[in-house]
Amino acid sequence: MEYCLREIEGKQAHDPIFIEKMKSSSRCLYVPGPVIVGAGPSGLATAACLKEKGVPSVILERSNCIASLWQLKTYDRLRLHLPKQFCELPLMGFPGDFPTYPSKQQFVDYLEAYARKFDIRPRFNETVSQAEYDRALGFWRVRSVWAKGKAMEYVCRWLVVATGENAEAMTPEVEGMGRFGGEVRHTSSYKSGEEFRGKRVLVVGCGNSGMEVCLDLCNHNANPTLVVRDTVHVLPQEMLGISTFGLSMWLLKWLPLRLVDRFLLIVSQLMLGNTARFGLVRPKLGPLELKNLSGKTPVLDAGTLAKIKSGDIKVRPSIKSLKRHAVEFVNGKTENFDAIILATGYKSNVPSWLKEKEMFSEKDGYPRRSFPNGWKGECGLYAVGFTKRGLLGTSMDATKIAHDIQRCWEDEAKHRLPFTPLLHQSSTL
Ligand SMILES: Cc1cc2nc3c(=O)[nH]c(=O)nc-3n(C[C@H](O)[C@H](O)[C@H](O)COP(=O)(O)OP(=O)(O)OC[C@H]3O[C@@H](n4cnc5c(N)ncnc54)[C@H](O)[C@@H]3O)c2cc1C
Repeated sequence: MEYCLREIEGKQAHDPIFIEKMKSSSRCLYVPGPVIVGAGPSGLATAACLKEKGVPSVILERSNCIASLWQLKTYDRLRLHLPKQFCELPLMGFPGDFPTYPSKQQFVDYLEAYARKFDIRPRFNETVSQAEYDRALGFWRVRSVWAKGKAMEYVCRWLVVATGENAEAMTPEVEGMGRFGGEVRHTSSYKSGEEFRGKRVLVVGCGNSGMEVCLDLCNHNANPTLVVRDTVHVLPQEMLGISTFGLSMWLLKWLPLRLVDRFLLIVSQLMLGNTARFGLVRPKLGPLELKNLSGKTPVLDAGTLAKIKSGDIKVRPSIKSLKRHAVEFVNGKTENFDAIILATGYKSNVPSWLKEKEMFSEKDGYPRRSFPNGWKGECGLYAVGFTKRGLLGTSMDATKIAHDIQRCWEDEAKHRLPFTPLLHQSSTL
């Protein structure tokens, strides 16, 4: 990014309280624009929208690459679950020759090209360990740790939280977990069924990831069993030759949500049959109503259901406890397994580093105000990508945040003192 980080100068440099506070930290940098935490799609989209409006920003990223969730923590066979037109970031579409559901590598290529186009160069290997608003100064103080435990403090007027809904793997408490002799792994470190060939694998969790991992295991001649604890809506990925998601969006323009839900359920029943017969009982609320109220995403079937019907994938109820090489289920039955894969989701890590109690809930690390009002807090604090609406939500947040910051940026530009650039941003700093 062609802008510079500047050491504290101008007015603050003559303020004795400010100087004293700055001296106490190991290294301190003033950032004229916003600091964005996280270089996933949300952080990149926000930086690009800001850049387009002439506002420079700094992105801090804990890993060594952009889109670390996609590059480092997803399985090989992953494709976008939604058609590409619903997953584009602002200001740049997908290449025309990409398929409707781009592969993980194609999506990463797109994000790399996006970062290049807007000259976004995050500061990698910097984990934000604390961020708090200094009321006396009227600035955010953002602390990061990087190589060999070295620390850095950034001082900025705006802070954009882009650490994502999937920052940390969620693992359930199961009786006897320490006792199980086989491998236990979260989907964030599952790559391919290849290494489970011939093995009996228990997959815990029946969201999109759990269902797809089962299919992948099947395709690699492993023997998967799926644990289904809750009710779940399974919908075909496409209906009448159109993506189910796209069709729902279109129908919602004309029809009330409950009617669209009725339609989705009738077509699903015709195409997939009664899923309850295979252990996948539908919730009482329809798929869109449930998504709106609880954020729970329906599963878009990419072929797993056929394998469940054929018996290649078995379905079991909740786990009661684990033994050395076996699993006891709540129905009293016990079966042997070689490995367990936890498709039990992720959680936000915001409460662990953001010292602010108003905007984000300490319980789940999401903005307290729900979509579409969760993107803006007080004192220049913003959240992007916490809408439970995937990349579509990211684009909406990023556009609004950039617009809002630009207004303040232009107002403040009238009063801003000139700074001497002392340190230029570089990805290797
Ligand atoms: C398997 C899977 C498939 C998906 N498929 C789709 C899809 O098809 N369509 C769709 O719309 N959505 C999909 N999603 C939703 C997904 O959340 C988004 O695709 C997207 O990755 C969210 O972007 P993000 O930038 O908000 O979060 P992330 O991609 O998680 O990026 C957050 C970044 O913040 C960094 N970070 C976290 N904490 C810190 C810290 N303290 N300091 C510094 N950096 C930090 C992380 O390392 C990470 O790079 C999928 C999710 C998963 C898990």
